[in-house]
Amino acid sequence: MKAVVIAIGSELLHPGRRDTNAEWLTLRLLDIGIESCWRAVVADDEHRIALLVRDAMAGAGVVILTGGLGPTDDDRTRTALSLAFEAPLERDPAMVRHIESLFTARGRVATPRQSLQAERPRGASWIPNALGSAPGILAVHDRVVVAALPGVPAEMRAMFDEIVAPRLAGMARSGIARRTLRIAGRPESSVDEAVRDLYDAPGVTTTILASAGTVELLLLSTGSDVREARAKLATVEAAMRARLGDDLFGADDETLASVVGGLLASRSRTVATAESCTGGLLGAALTEAPGSSAWFRGGVVCYANDLKTSLVTVPDTLIRAHGAVSEPVARALATGARRVCGADFGLAITGIAGPSGGTVDKPVGTVHLALDDGAEVRARKLDWPGDRELIRRRAVAAALDLLRRRLIAR
Ligand code: ATP
Repeated sequence: MKAVVIAIGSELLHPGRRDTNAEWLTLRLLDIGIESCWRAVVADDEHRIALLVRDAMAGAGVVILTGGLGPTDDDRTRTALSLAFEAPLERDPAMVRHIESLFTARGRVATPRQSLQAERPRGASWIPNALGSAPGILAVHDRVVVAALPGVPAEMRAMFDEIVAPRLAGMARSGIARRTLRIAGRPESSVDEAVRDLYDAPGVTTTILASAGTVELLLLSTGSDVREARAKLATVEAAMRARLGDDLFGADDETLASVVGGLLASRSRTVATAESCTGGLLGAALTEAPGSSAWFRGGVVCYANDLKTSLVTVPDTLIRAHGAVSEPVARALATGARRVCGADFGLAITGIAGPSGGTVDKPVGTVHLALDDGAEVRARKLDWPGDRELIRRRAVAAALDLLRRRLIAR
């Protein structure tokens, strides 16, 4: 059985607005064994929405909509469902009273428009909304389950998990399992080479994806039930893990920073950073991991050469002799960060992110990393070309990976 996810909202068609609801719903549906065959983003137009719903119902067993359930003029989902089902909208007096009581409880009076939220196509039922005033709508039409949820992500998620997912759980005829394996320190072509023959494992589809400094293997397996799907996936995953060894740093939601944080926490060690061309991205990545105050001492962003000297104690003679983007300066930055911040490890990045500033000797993309662990300083040079964002993100990934490898070294 397949699903279709439709996100409703003209604002979602504006540049920079991401339909994260549909991404979340697609993953959740997979977890209960339902694959999506397509998804769409549509403006607040009841005729277009209704056309899409009818099209979805013709080819899928489940249709999930998000957005357009509020009380304002641009909230068109109720009318669209009424058109798609050819069923009139009916106002539910009990829901009108419920919405009014929500307002009274906050010392406010519901406007007449609020009662629009109490309308649903004849034959449909409600999906209660514990976090807001707009209830969701659940209908079974021509044997297709159609669920309309609010656009507000927290409301949509809670209502899907509490009401819609249990309703769909028994409907999937097959089981699905998925896993993302995350790899650092190896280019995509090398990862592909190492595991390519496993892509054809029966019942398991693998997709390879490269992002800045890391590679992801997305595994999706199907079986007659979830247990069978999980067992097939586990066999392929174990083979991939054996081949990729320490280059495989984590799975699913783990990030390089969260893995490094876990390793530091379990060893009761701390890290401090000194960064130039990444302008604080390394510190930001480390502090994205929850609980980072236990193992991240702090960091210094020293763009200007004199700050490398005054804040991180890099001798200016070193900068004059080798240039700010050099291995000796990266080493001195790592040592300085460790000492100045009083950490167990000092991690440093200095490089040329471009687009200007490159030379024949040091082209754009030249980045020096260093890690001081108190006993030894290791350094690494990156020299991949790329745009500014890519160079900076790859530098952060490589720096985190340098520390990760030091922490797992046997
Ligand atoms: P409702 O159905 O509750 O009326 P709506 O579609 O009218 O929701 P808006 O009021 O336009 O939603 O937006 C409420 C919030 O939900 C906004 O922050 C908006 O960015 C967010 N939102 C709406 N749809 C999505 C989506 N598909 N993905 C991510 N965020 C969304």
